[in-house]
Amino acid sequence: MAYTNFTVETDADGIALVTWDMPGKSMNVFTAEILEELNAIIDATVADAAVKGVVFTSGKSSFSGGADLSMIKSMFSFYQDEKAKDPAAAAQKLFNLVGRMTGLFRKLETCGKPWVSAINGTCMGGAFELSLACHGRVASSAKSVKIALPEVKVGIFPGAGGTQRIARLTDAQSALQMMTTGQSLTAARAKAMNLVHQVVEPDQLISAAKQMIKDGLKPVAPWDEKGFKAPGGGIWTPAAAQLWPAAPAILRRETSGNYPAALAILKCVYEGLQVPFDTGLKIEQRYFTHVLQTTEAYSMIRSLFISMQELGKGARRPAGQPKTELKKIGVVGAGFMGASIAYVTAAAGIPVTLIDRDIEAAIKGKGVGEGLVKDSIGKGRLTQDEGAALLSRITPSADYADLKDADLVIEAVFEDREVKKAVIEAVEAVLPAGAVFASNTSTLPISGLAKNSKRPADFIGVHFFSPVEKMMLTEVILGKETGDHALAVALDYVAAIKKTPIVVNDTRGFFVNRCVFRYIHEAYDMLIEGVPAAMIENAAKMAGMPVGPLALNDEVAIDLSYKILKATVADLGEKAVDPRHMQLVTDLVEREGRLGRKNAKGFYDYPPKPAKKSLWPGLKDLYPQKKADDVDVAVLKQRFLATIALEAARTIEEGIVTDPREADVGSILGFGFAPYTGGALSYIDGMGVKAFVELCEKLAAAYGPHFQPTALLKDMAAKGETFYGRFDPYRVAKAA
Ligand code: NAD
Repeated sequence: MAYTNFTVETDADGIALVTWDMPGKSMNVFTAEILEELNAIIDATVADAAVKGVVFTSGKSSFSGGADLSMIKSMFSFYQDEKAKDPAAAAQKLFNLVGRMTGLFRKLETCGKPWVSAINGTCMGGAFELSLACHGRVASSAKSVKIALPEVKVGIFPGAGGTQRIARLTDAQSALQMMTTGQSLTAARAKAMNLVHQVVEPDQLISAAKQMIKDGLKPVAPWDEKGFKAPGGGIWTPAAAQLWPAAPAILRRETSGNYPAALAILKCVYEGLQVPFDTGLKIEQRYFTHVLQTTEAYSMIRSLFISMQELGKGARRPAGQPKTELKKIGVVGAGFMGASIAYVTAAAGIPVTLIDRDIEAAIKGKGVGEGLVKDSIGKGRLTQDEGAALLSRITPSADYADLKDADLVIEAVFEDREVKKAVIEAVEAVLPAGAVFASNTSTLPISGLAKNSKRPADFIGVHFFSPVEKMMLTEVILGKETGDHALAVALDYVAAIKKTPIVVNDTRGFFVNRCVFRYIHEAYDMLIEGVPAAMIENAAKMAGMPVGPLALNDEVAIDLSYKILKATVADLGEKAVDPRHMQLVTDLVEREGRLGRKNAKGFYDYPPKPAKKSLWPGLKDLYPQKKADDVDVAVLKQRFLATIALEAARTIEEGIVTDPREADVGSILGFGFAPYTGGALSYIDGMGVKAFVELCEKLAAAYGPHFQPTALLKDMAAKGETFYGRFDPYRVAKAA
């Protein structure tokens, strides 16, 4: 029988090699069609007496990325539609749907013939769950092999038998660790955890897998054998008595109870290990059905899986613009940002000319790349040759004439209008027609800078975040006259360096920094009210923020906050800033000399390593302190999330951000906005705009008019609208 997505070749030893190779896709993913074909393959290989066993592998460079976008999307839209009609029936149907993959993998596991999964590359989620159902697993030793069950990162968990099989193959602690963090394992680590049987050279993969069958691999999973015991002996052992009482507390410390999927993993393993395997699968299916119905799962999958992929694949790329082959990039300013921008560009395989005021400064900038390459070689992420090739793509220079064949030049010089003006003029004097000029400014409006340009249609903002090599987001800013060509080139560049772009219109602070400063300013308010600093930091983390606002301000630098407040007053007048905030940062910077992490003195003290940072005790003396018991932590959490979400809503109302996906993805990737909410706008949609407006009114009455809900929010509340309904990105894309 011929299959669309698989080939099946049976050799002289009766071993069928099933190769998964979806036509027209760069990666294999699970779709309804895949499940059907896999089912047919199981039936056919069982029915064929000539087949003694099956080796399952992939025809792509990776094994499989797991579930497909369209499958997940259809599952959610089906459930949303059905729920409106009959919630109980919808939940039942969802339960049955969820059980499909579990049932199929169990059928494979109990089909009576041995299956071996030959893992040739990255093997994620459902694909690893399929491999776990095979009787043997052989992985290639290639560096590219990454094995993970990363579902928890998008609000769900391994729901096709993963929680039950992992917990029966490796010890419970490692199982919980792997699934609640979604961490990636190397093949060697997976073998050490007993999750794969063999790790072999890439060219030995298929023969080793076949050999397992020839050596008489039993077509029975360990848990289907009589007398099976889970590693460590299950949950009624002295070792388990050490683990299980602490496990919920550890999870709570790590997640503050914000992630239902992580808790469900714990429950699946704990409950599943006490019952026979098939009952364990049922338990998993029930928890999975429950988790899929949570707002967290819905919002996280939408933002962190669907929207992130869509934006990464150019959802905002203007139609009709040919793809740019980036042959050379120029970076002007080889300082803190420019040096790292040059590095990530070279790491993506694109040659870069890195320019500074003199060649020494440019060479120093390249040195940052050299340091990063050395680190990567040390960690085994790059070979010596790869590192050398990467660095050979960075050419330091002090001569603007070297930019004459650049496709895109990114400016990262001092944040000073006059310095930038001179650079724009110098670059444009040599830049070829059609090449694009991008500024990495963080505070200067792009339209204003573009006034210095002779070709404002090819002038754009490409705003990176620090550390550039780690931060996944890039904000692309459209000036008033920026044209489609510049946008297309900028987006092609961002895609080439494998970052996620959001496209925003021009405004002070763009999107991310506007929100970040709301977060920091709310913490200033709390400090001024006398809330103990430790409570401020902890409440923010309990709300789901990765870094407390005071620690974040130290990273950004308090003197930068000071400069920005002063610039805001200069441009917009005294009323534009809260005088108490100005007083606070003035005191910290001018009186106390506390600039942030950069001088080891900020809201925290930074003693030499290995000592850890700790909150500066002097904070207590700045304002009369409240007693901890008089502060409501739940309200602190609400204030942080609400003030950021309100700012995100304002950017939509002002037309700065036009697509809710970008506000959500931008808020999570840009500053870690509580990922379980799905982002700043999903936080509002998740509780309902009406409830959010009520919350804001309550907070405004107690903490000030900056919490006042806006006209748009009130209108949406009255009409029962959501951001994704009113600003539906797919309707906008279709209409365009
Ligand atoms: P930096 O001071 O570390 O580096 C600026 C570099 O520009 C220096 O190496 C300097 O020698 C060089 N330079 C100055 N004038 C020049 C000229 N005429 N020609 C060539 N080179 C010149 O500053 P930075 O922190 O890297 O910031 C650079 C830009 O990036 C600023 O616009 C800043 O707002 C923006 N930005 C900074 C951050 C951040 O976290 N630091 C984040 C996003 C954006």
